Amino acid sequence: MSTINLKETEVPVREVRLGSITGFEGTADELVRCSQAGTLKDSTRNFSQCMGCSSGNAFCQLSMIQDAAIINHGPVGCAGDFFTFNFTYRVGQMERNLPAVNGRYFNTNIEEKDTIFGAVEKLESTIRGVYERVKPNAILITTSCASGIIGDDVESVASSLSEELGIPVVACFCEGFKSKIWTTGFDAAYHSIVRKLVKPPKQKTNKVNIVNFWGSHIFDDLLRPLGFEPEYIVPFSTVKQLEHISEAVATIQICPTLGTYLGAALEQVYGVPEIKSPPAYGIAGTDTWLRELGKVLDREKEIEEVIIKEHIRVLPKIKEYQKQLKGKTAYLTAGAAHGHALIALLRELGLEVQGAAIFHHDPIYDNGDPASDALAHDVNTYGDIKNYNVCNKQAYELVNILNKVRPDIMIARHGGMTLWGAKLGIPTLLIGDEQFGFGYQGILNYAERILETLDNKEFVINLAKHSTMPYTKWWLEQSPFSFLRSDLDVKIY
Ligand code: SF4
Repeated sequence: MSTINLKETEVPVREVRLGSITGFEGTADELVRCSQAGTLKDSTRNFSQCMGCSSGNAFCQLSMIQDAAIINHGPVGCAGDFFTFNFTYRVGQMERNLPAVNGRYFNTNIEEKDTIFGAVEKLESTIRGVYERVKPNAILITTSCASGIIGDDVESVASSLSEELGIPVVACFCEGFKSKIWTTGFDAAYHSIVRKLVKPPKQKTNKVNIVNFWGSHIFDDLLRPLGFEPEYIVPFSTVKQLEHISEAVATIQICPTLGTYLGAALEQVYGVPEIKSPPAYGIAGTDTWLRELGKVLDREKEIEEVIIKEHIRVLPKIKEYQKQLKGKTAYLTAGAAHGHALIALLRELGLEVQGAAIFHHDPIYDNGDPASDALAHDVNTYGDIKNYNVCNKQAYELVNILNKVRPDIMIARHGGMTLWGAKLGIPTLLIGDEQFGFGYQGILNYAERILETLDNKEFVINLAKHSTMPYTKWWLEQSPFSFLRSDLDVKIY
């Protein structure tokens, strides 16, 4: 279990805190066993294509706080993805009947001369300018490689401007170069929220924190009949709401990769219990998760009734889907815990999972509880997964594997990955709403979308006929792991 230390300005990166890795080739069972034994090693690549960035992941959470403004302290190129977050923010507003406004995102435009003379004054004047222009209830500053390398004292600037302006001005340290595991950026965002926005509880409420991205509000129907109110955080919350998340009765994470740090921080610092269970995907996972929720909320009897009712409703339908999907094969690429959750869904529906390319692996979460390990849950419940690859979005590995495996369907979690399946003529399904597959209904939701995708192959077949691949025949004939140098392994956990 990691110790949450709010006195530190920065959260240690996942490599150091959890022993997380980005390179592995083997079976899921081997990965689980190494993780549990504390012998997991990272395999280094001697060739790498583009990856994600912690700064982007921190921004992804902070940028959707409704009444805050975000300043990215970096060169303007680091702000190149602002428009994608603004798009998600605008779509989410429409879905929630919120007034349509643009995200209040700013960048300090660190230039070459600033890297020599420092960019602190630029940051100060940007903070004052942003306050004048949009009058936010908080200003959050995300750092960048450049601001980290030149050593700008962002913490001191944030503290003095917070005093001057009378609102929280909070530094979030998420420089991209510090970690190969870009989900470290989620931890950095949550660290800055718990450190500077969340207030100590005055009273307990009936709220249940739900750490999520921007998915649908599926927890309303589960929690309200039990007498609890869902509090979806962090996207689309307000600064005031975040101040009070320490008063909740429990914290649910839609995905432990996303919420591991926030769940543990709220439990360790403010005593808000975290639901420690594999996420609710597939029948066994949902049963376990619901029972854990019932225990924490003291609603065990009511939860047993929900489980019985839902089993009666969904099990016959799942049997039907299993018949239709029998013999179909799937390959999956996704972030860690959500990927594990999708493996459970596919296995529940009877698809053969030929393999998975998962972006990183956390051998343990911040709560230190092995019950939360979604991959161990998959292996124990559904059996091993051969061809399990930890690959931090390396497209060259993915294309090589897909070309050899040729599944009936590829399931992807991130835009930018689906085209590789489509270019090979493999029907590919991407679902952005992470709540779509959650719980019993989620199994049915996914089954329907998989069948639709399998029934509509014409587009990808035609696309493949007219597409060219940037990868040569030579590469496609090599082992996909030719650049994964296990001989360079360094024991880190
Ligand atoms: S913070 Fe670093 S890794 Fe991230 S976008 Fe900026 S330069 Fe790239």
